[in-house]
Amino acid sequence: MEEVRVRFAPSPTGSLHIGGARTALFNWLYARNRRGTLVLRLEDTDLQRSTDDAAAGIIEGLKWLGLDWDEGPGVGGDYGPYRQSERLPIYRHYIQQLLDQNQAYYCFCSADELKRQREQAQSEKRNYLYEGQCRHMNDSEVKNRLAAGEKPVVRLKVDRTGQTIVNDLIRGTVQFDNQLMDDFIIAKSDGWPTYNFAVVVDDHTMHISHVIRAEEHLSNTPKQIKVYEALGWKLPQFAHVSMILAPDRSKLSKRHGATSVQEFRDEGYLPEALVNYLVLLGWSPGENIDIYPREQMIENFALENVSRSAAIYDLPKLTWMNGVYLAAADLDRIVALVTPEAAKMGWLNETNRSYFRQVVDLVRSRAKTTREILPLAGYFFVPPEHYDTKGIQKYFRPSGSTEYIRSVLDVIMTVDVFTAVHLEEGLRDKAAQMGIKASALIHPTRLALSGVTNTPGLFEVMELLGRDACQARLERALGFIGGLSAE
Ligand code: GLU
Repeated sequence: MEEVRVRFAPSPTGSLHIGGARTALFNWLYARNRRGTLVLRLEDTDLQRSTDDAAAGIIEGLKWLGLDWDEGPGVGGDYGPYRQSERLPIYRHYIQQLLDQNQAYYCFCSADELKRQREQAQSEKRNYLYEGQCRHMNDSEVKNRLAAGEKPVVRLKVDRTGQTIVNDLIRGTVQFDNQLMDDFIIAKSDGWPTYNFAVVVDDHTMHISHVIRAEEHLSNTPKQIKVYEALGWKLPQFAHVSMILAPDRSKLSKRHGATSVQEFRDEGYLPEALVNYLVLLGWSPGENIDIYPREQMIENFALENVSRSAAIYDLPKLTWMNGVYLAAADLDRIVALVTPEAAKMGWLNETNRSYFRQVVDLVRSRAKTTREILPLAGYFFVPPEHYDTKGIQKYFRPSGSTEYIRSVLDVIMTVDVFTAVHLEEGLRDKAAQMGIKASALIHPTRLALSGVTNTPGLFEVMELLGRDACQARLERALGFIGGLSAE
């Protein structure tokens, strides 16, 4: 069986977006599933728009997602270089070969001339196609003009009869009418190849067996097939993955929130959650499972199960998934992720590491992202200065509240061991003695200790805060309630 060799070929002109990340993921999964090779190739021939920063950002994003490559930047391999900007001699070689074989030709038409032709086509309401003026220029004229220092482009001679068929592993057979193709440019006047040429030379010379990429490149594929044919090369298999659209089916953009992998990382998403979400965006394992471990993805991934229709981006679902992964993640890892911010807030020092760790563990189940953890934990580090307004109305204003808080104070001061279990027992006994529901004691206590009405289990919160802090906070709340009745 032919060895599977796939590639992810981003253009480093911006950050790694979720669409690109999903293409990378599908390639990675396919390679891992088939025990093949994943190549990373940076398509940076657009010298104006490509930057080293963007390349570094894409590489960092892939590493963060845990998508490793077997050949490419930083790894090496037998078919490099893996940056297009370092492959110019290779492209020149094949451009020259096509010129020598009379399958390509120099075109000296000026930009003004081409613009005039384009405008003319527009005014006649027809598609603009290059009319082939330079196709039959005689050799001596070509030589003279080159010698005179003119800088032509190179065009491929395209046979415009018949059809070009793309056999796509996801989309099936797609036919393109060759009438709609012209002698397109394969090398620009500065000598650099165009995308449609470079990509073919690279995929062939890197022995790529499957080209798995975004649907937007499907329309480029017939042109690329023409290049393969001209060079006498075998076609790879193609698989064009559908778009990811916003919930309103518009193109995904900034206004739909975070779209780059780095933004998700900065907003507190975990890479395994993003990967889990992305794989199900367009691929279905055939069973109704949301949480899908990576080993299982590798085992079951198949291009046949990739959907032909557009995938709809669903941020709430991703966020929900992230919460599931966050609750199950290794605690030390989560602690490390929130540590810099906690240190900045002054909540973490040399003496309270173990306390800090327990707080993170307690509140993380209520957080959907790591960014949400610390805002839920403030009262563990700083006593509440204010109380929730609705909470005051509900739990502090009613007449019994002082008595309730006093009786909880009593439990706190007399409980033998200050643990959640004993506190709960003591408080429930107290409520029973008073002939009230335990919740009548729990709610005002929670508000007094935290300032808010929503916290993890009250007894766990009390245990963590410790006796002294609970006492001080309950006494402060009694003072506050006293002030309320004096109003
Ligand atoms: N460099 C192209 C892009 O970033 C991908 C080309 C390809 O996969 O063929 O869209």
